[in-house]
Amino acid sequence: MAERTSYNRRDHIDPADIAGINERAFAWAAERETIHPVQIDELVMADDAIDTLAEAVRSRAGGGRVTMVVDPTPMRRGGDDLKPLIEATLAGAVRLTVRRLPDEPDAAFYADMEAARRLADELDGFSAVVSVGSGSITDTVKYARHLLVQKTRRKLPFISFPTAASVTAYTSALAALTIEGVKRTLPASPPEVLICDLATLADAPRIMTQAGFADVLARGVSYGDWYLASQFGMDDTFSHVPGRLLENAEREMIAQAEGVAAGERNALRAVTEAVLLAGMAMSLVNQTAPLSGWEHAVSHFLDLTAAHDGREPALHGGQVGIGTLVAARAYERAWNELDLDRLTDDQDDAVYRKTIENACRRYDTRGTLISEIWQDFQRKLTRWRAARDARRAFVEHHRGGAFDAFLHDAVRPAAEIEEALRRAGAPRRFADLNEPIRRSSARAAVRYAHLIRGRFTLGDLLSETGWLDDAHAGELLDEPAEGPTV
Ligand SMILES: [Zn+2]
Repeated sequence: MAERTSYNRRDHIDPADIAGINERAFAWAAERETIHPVQIDELVMADDAIDTLAEAVRSRAGGGRVTMVVDPTPMRRGGDDLKPLIEATLAGAVRLTVRRLPDEPDAAFYADMEAARRLADELDGFSAVVSVGSGSITDTVKYARHLLVQKTRRKLPFISFPTAASVTAYTSALAALTIEGVKRTLPASPPEVLICDLATLADAPRIMTQAGFADVLARGVSYGDWYLASQFGMDDTFSHVPGRLLENAEREMIAQAEGVAAGERNALRAVTEAVLLAGMAMSLVNQTAPLSGWEHAVSHFLDLTAAHDGREPALHGGQVGIGTLVAARAYERAWNELDLDRLTDDQDDAVYRKTIENACRRYDTRGTLISEIWQDFQRKLTRWRAARDARRAFVEHHRGGAFDAFLHDAVRPAAEIEEALRRAGAPRRFADLNEPIRRSSARAAVRYAHLIRGRFTLGDLLSETGWLDDAHAGELLDEPAEGPTV
């Protein structure tokens, strides 16, 4: 990750070359590292990939009935309405049922556990499932199919038709769903077939592509978080392989940032390749940590507080991009100011529990949120207590500058992230998101997001060393005090 200046086409990795990707990953892995091969059979990425969809579905369905899962958002592809077009195409090839989510008409659809459970029960009678949508639809189908596999031991074929290059979800073996009000990442498996039709992705709203761009940018801080977690003995899975898989695509995507803002096809292709490879990068280690650290916790916290604030959740990638900028600033401002002696102190459960209650009680509309958060947090706490030796070693190594070289290479400077977001036309302040967020809510997310997740991230380190107070959280935002300007 050290060398950032030149992009070499010879190093280009084609996301459609799944066998080549798995081969590379195993070759790059250290001797005792566990790598999980990407379990995608076929990935088509082309301007007119839509032409291959009907045959891909027909051949997987084996003559049986197929269900196509969609949300109510109207979408275009050139001069056509996308969903009726796909419906007609598939209905000509297979016996088709269209399942529209959510069940309540005219509501926006967000991926949650209840929706996935209900869908899983319905999938049993089908021979294949097709998702036509972006993150929420894909993750819901992904997890519903996973539940069905667990129940019946039958791996219902799953074909994904992404409608926006907006998230890293499509190729990943993990599903992000809301459980009791909190975003959780759950193990599943990716679709067997992905049909990435660039003409469709090009007609998605520009902010969707910008969101995908920003979701991939997260690698520039989350890799540092993952590394720190491994140094603390809080994560045994750290690997250089995911970063290596994504390296060139990430660099090429950033090089094309202006094209993202301008809606150019080459830039869209670069973002699409990057989001697809990013999903695979996570699958290789069977967890999201390579692309999901503190910045994602901040985004999840903002999702959790949206209803209470009276706003819709903003685009995932949009929130993540700003979270990435915040985390990059924190790496720069806090790293040499940490009160390291505090890392070897232990606090009582009651202290953490009280902080969680104070930070989250007002969002607990169903009375289940605090216990869901506490359950996950306690796992982190148990591990943290057991990692006393690793914490002591961390303090010593930190003082000796042992982490500086890695973090210098793996974590992007805040100025670079801000510049990439600016060139891509993506928001750099929470107040500028598609659903603007008040400064007080953004500050609360920065201050408390580490509490809602079992994963150790930079936020935990800043909190444990006493750095993460209200003042510092506010300064990391670099936003005007009066809140949204739009
Ligand atoms: Zn993400």
